Amino acid sequence: MRFSVSAEAARARLPTMTGDTPGGARTDDPAREGGYRTPTVRPQILYPLFAPVEQLPAVGPKVARLIEKVAGPRVVDLLWHLPTGMIDRRYRPQLADAEPGRHATVHVCVTAHRAPASPRGPHRVIARDGTGELQIVYFRAKGDWLQRTYPVGAEVIVSGMVDVYNGQAQITHPDYVVPAGREGEIPAIEPVYGLTAGLQAGRMVKAAAAAIARAPALAEWLDPALVAREGWPGWREALVNAHTPTDPDRLGPQSPDRRRLAYDELLANQVALLAVRASQRRRPGRILTGTGTLQAKIQAALPYSLTGAQTVALSEIAGDLAAPTKMLRLLQGDVGSGKTVVALLAMAIVVEAGGQAALLAPTEILARQHLETLEPLARAAGIRVALLTGREKGRLRSGILLGLADGSIQIVLGTHAIIQNDVAFRDLALAVVDEQHRFGVEQRLDLAAKGAAVDTLTMTATPIPRTLQLTAYGDMDVSRLAEKPPGRKPVDTRAVALDRLEEVVGAIGRKLDRGEKVYWVCPLVEESEVTDLASATDRYEALAARFGERVGLVHGRLKGPEKDAAMAAFAGGTVDLLVSTTVIEVGVNVPAATVMVIEHAERFGLAQLHQLRGRVGRGDRKASCLLLYSDRLTGVARQRLKIMRQTEDGFVIAEEDLRLRGAGEVLGTRQSGLPETRVADLDRDGDLLAIARDDARLILDRDPGLTSERGQAVRILLYLFERDAAIRYLRSG
Ligand code: ADP
Ligand code: MG
Repeated sequence: MRFSVSAEAARARLPTMTGDTPGGARTDDPAREGGYRTPTVRPQILYPLFAPVEQLPAVGPKVARLIEKVAGPRVVDLLWHLPTGMIDRRYRPQLADAEPGRHATVHVCVTAHRAPASPRGPHRVIARDGTGELQIVYFRAKGDWLQRTYPVGAEVIVSGMVDVYNGQAQITHPDYVVPAGREGEIPAIEPVYGLTAGLQAGRMVKAAAAAIARAPALAEWLDPALVAREGWPGWREALVNAHTPTDPDRLGPQSPDRRRLAYDELLANQVALLAVRASQRRRPGRILTGTGTLQAKIQAALPYSLTGAQTVALSEIAGDLAAPTKMLRLLQGDVGSGKTVVALLAMAIVVEAGGQAALLAPTEILARQHLETLEPLARAAGIRVALLTGREKGRLRSGILLGLADGSIQIVLGTHAIIQNDVAFRDLALAVVDEQHRFGVEQRLDLAAKGAAVDTLTMTATPIPRTLQLTAYGDMDVSRLAEKPPGRKPVDTRAVALDRLEEVVGAIGRKLDRGEKVYWVCPLVEESEVTDLASATDRYEALAARFGERVGLVHGRLKGPEKDAAMAAFAGGTVDLLVSTTVIEVGVNVPAATVMVIEHAERFGLAQLHQLRGRVGRGDRKASCLLLYSDRLTGVARQRLKIMRQTEDGFVIAEEDLRLRGAGEVLGTRQSGLPETRVADLDRDGDLLAIARDDARLILDRDPGLTSERGQAVRILLYLFERDAAIRYLRSG
């Protein structure tokens, strides 16, 4: 649950976007916005922990690669790779009493060897103590090694899992065997770690022990009163205890060691979050009051009137813009709730006040779609809008840059391309980030850094359960569009077994004949674009063979113009059945589409299914969603499909998602700009969150630059959990 992102991805801090442009390079540091640049050089005391695991004794390149797979590439990753169990070798029964299924260490005398009857058969060493007989079983072991290790007549100590086979006690491939008298070489207690194929338990134990040995003693960053109240050990002691538990209780999530480490991580996250937020709020905002004229023109051009929820959200945003502090507001609204038009009207306020606005979207398709829907409305109000993505190049691009620099373009819509270094505004006053969970905190800040006192509006369709809002959004203000535009009809959702594919295709054919438009989504296969694409291409070919030119295909590998052409053909006319990979997941709006087919729906998460289904049911015709599943459904997948059939309420779905997946995944990097937690598990340690938040607030209130003794210790904590990007945002002095 905690390691939802592969270790590699977490390490690389991959950009979470799926769009077309490379992740935004930092364009500037906060100094430009009146902050003070603080050096962010990792403290020397932590160097040993951020070295590659290969530097540990007894870890060669091959083992290092395996460790990297399960834990991560650096020593510190091993520290957070906590044991999942322990082997207690202190259990030393007589053979007659040895309980099967339990690890035991027994003292026996070797009486005979029974060589394998066939080359594949096991070799058995027969041994006894005063109470009974033990067979020590080996498959494919070298005969001479066996003879040397188990000389007949010798007394040996054997430690391993005891089982009973045909009424005979046996240990297969003991973990340890030493001559009597050398018991000391067998550890009394051993941690059990999550492994991967090829990685031996013993090697992992050794590597972890070596990593812990490198952990320095660090000055306490926690409040002594809290530590005393909870009965927590110091950081290093907690780490050592968590890795070398002396009794099973210490392995449990409630053990003081694990709670301490979890709290450390939550505190690091909260301090980082609050430092960034505080730096944003600290900078004075500007007073932006609209005249209402442009807004009125836009509203007049709308084919509908705003819902109550939209009006309320807009007035909250207007209030923020008019206030002398910076806006940091999240507009949360389920798919199809109409966030885009609210964003446009907010941008219009800014234009009325003489400023410029930018809207950042995660994919090119989405950016282009925003242009299509917003441009005519803006034009009605005399506002000049431009689109800037990775595809606007050469003269076109320089023209746009010029327009932004001289202020003749008032609103820019685009992808990461608008965060690039050479994009400058005459007076950027509002940054809107659509689908904000697809971006990191830094990208938002980068965009905001392009103006003097930029207000920020972020938008998301991914509802986050209230219980998690604290971690995800900290003290961001939230507006919610709880009400959907009128006239939406419920989407008829059904789960259908994939072996009824023929029937489904037949039904789709009838829909097409009636002039309806259909999405057909193929899943991500093993997270690989290549196989992903293959499944969509295959499906496309099969459907095209049947329905001909009315079938289109869109996927992430297509070049921008091809993608546009495919989307446009679907939205506009010639294509009625669009086969796609999940590129359409975010935000795409084709109101004429009435059917959503999701192939291998069991491979999608709830939030994703909800997003996909949200693509239909936007027009006046009755819409349906077919969830095609393969027969081997896991319990969780079955429940997901059931929930999808039961409700269309994004918040209910979010709560269920949380229940099924756990907070760790729901609150991934994608949601919040927070990294995955390594030690803390919000399901178990959620109660610590509020304490950590208050603690973080207190720390930063008292010592905004983290310069006091405790402040210095907290800095180390930030580095330890790699939240040190936040250090740049601390107030100095
Ligand atoms: P989302 O919140 O998912 O971004 P959009 O902003 O794309 O949703 O809006 C979805 C659809 O709803 C669009 O076709 C839009 O024109 C329409 N819409 C938005 N507001 C209203 C409204 N007040 N009444 C009717 N339709 C609306
Ligand atoms: Mg949207």
